Amino acid sequence: MPTAAPVNQSLPPILKSGNRHTLRKRIHLLCFLIFCALPFFNVMRFDIPRQRFYFAGVQLWINEFGIVFFSMMFLLFIVVGLSMVYGRVYCGYACPQMIFSEAANAAEEKLRKWVTKKFISWPVKRRNLLHGVLVYSVIGLASVGLAFVFISYFVEPRDLLGRLAHFDLITAGGVAGAVTTLFTFLDFAFVRQRFCTTLCPYGYLQGMLADKNTLLVQYRDPDHLCIECKKCVRVCHMGIDIRKSPYQMECIHCGECIEACEEIMPRRGLPPVVEYAWGTEGAKLGAQPERSFLYRLGIRDAKRRAVMGVLFFYASGLAVALSMRHPVMVRISPERATLYATTASGGVANRFRLNLANRSGEKAFVTLRADGLAAGTLRLAANPVPVDAGGSKVAYFTVEVAADANLPAVSHFQFVAETQPSGVHDEIPMTFLMPQKGSKQ
Ligand code: SF4
Ligand code: SF4
Repeated sequence: MPTAAPVNQSLPPILKSGNRHTLRKRIHLLCFLIFCALPFFNVMRFDIPRQRFYFAGVQLWINEFGIVFFSMMFLLFIVVGLSMVYGRVYCGYACPQMIFSEAANAAEEKLRKWVTKKFISWPVKRRNLLHGVLVYSVIGLASVGLAFVFISYFVEPRDLLGRLAHFDLITAGGVAGAVTTLFTFLDFAFVRQRFCTTLCPYGYLQGMLADKNTLLVQYRDPDHLCIECKKCVRVCHMGIDIRKSPYQMECIHCGECIEACEEIMPRRGLPPVVEYAWGTEGAKLGAQPERSFLYRLGIRDAKRRAVMGVLFFYASGLAVALSMRHPVMVRISPERATLYATTASGGVANRFRLNLANRSGEKAFVTLRADGLAAGTLRLAANPVPVDAGGSKVAYFTVEVAADANLPAVSHFQFVAETQPSGVHDEIPMTFLMPQKGSKQ
């Protein structure tokens, strides 16, 4: 019989025997808090009624294509990179569907034990009935909260809270809330982890991205040490036997079976035979201290380095796009239906259209002037122009020159827009048209 191997000697303490389940549950709690906090602090949220996209606290307008594009591609490549390097780590550790499915399983189990203990004298049928009522009540209440958080990703949370407080079942937002609550309840009452193996597109995507260097949970037992205790099978909430294959569609790489084997085998003086390892032929997680840091992190081939490069490209693009973004968008376009007009005093006027969009959270004032046009006068009803936080405005104005202004047919000048309180300064090149000598407008 082989001698007892030191278990996980090369692993960091956080991944050693007995820690995995606790660590995973702590990560679940952290991810749940993040899931709840993201829409409330506008870290990531689509506001469908107002057509806004919030990313890292910045309010983006749907028409800000560059930033929305870079944000989406950056998030997509994080998903791709994580799945390629670490397998279904998102499913096992961070997915709300998995977290709440496991929480529903745990609540059901705890309530069963409590009912059995407290009402031991009741007939089994009555105990089962009470257990069912309690389980569905708890899931029903939790569904209202979860549906609220979920819809907060698409509707302003305070607005949503008002609808919830008034039991709004008439407006689109209220109906969406009620339908989402119903689906959430049905999901966590009856479907739970079955969703992951049947409906979830992300599960299928991750399966396609895994290759020979992806981190997998594996049963590796060349010396036939497995004692057939089946604890790894009993703890698997996806209902599979990891010993059959590391590539089973249902496996979410949560590592619960590893911990089960790590508990059982050392008691018999044997090394565990289920472990995290890189690809079916690769070393176990945490081994190979002689290799580079990036290699040990899982960046093991050109494909992974390329994905890292693409991720870096989109992150840089996003950073540049955000740094160039102005809190108040100022656009000026000439009204060329009429090239120019003659004023009552005999001067010449060109008409322009001003578009303002205040993407910041405070009221802004935009002061406009025309630079580089000799004797040009800008006539705008209110200057500075006020724009409410999150609001937009369209205004028409003219630039006029006196009758005796000796300008060519086309003069180049620029509009300068000063925005307060941000202090941003925009310069917009423009042309001023004069009548050609001898022509009439
Ligand atoms: S827990 Fe380990 S020893 Fe027990 S059946 Fe599973 S692989 Fe074999
Ligand atoms: S086989 Fe192991 S890693 Fe895969 S889902 Fe089951 S317990 Fe988790």
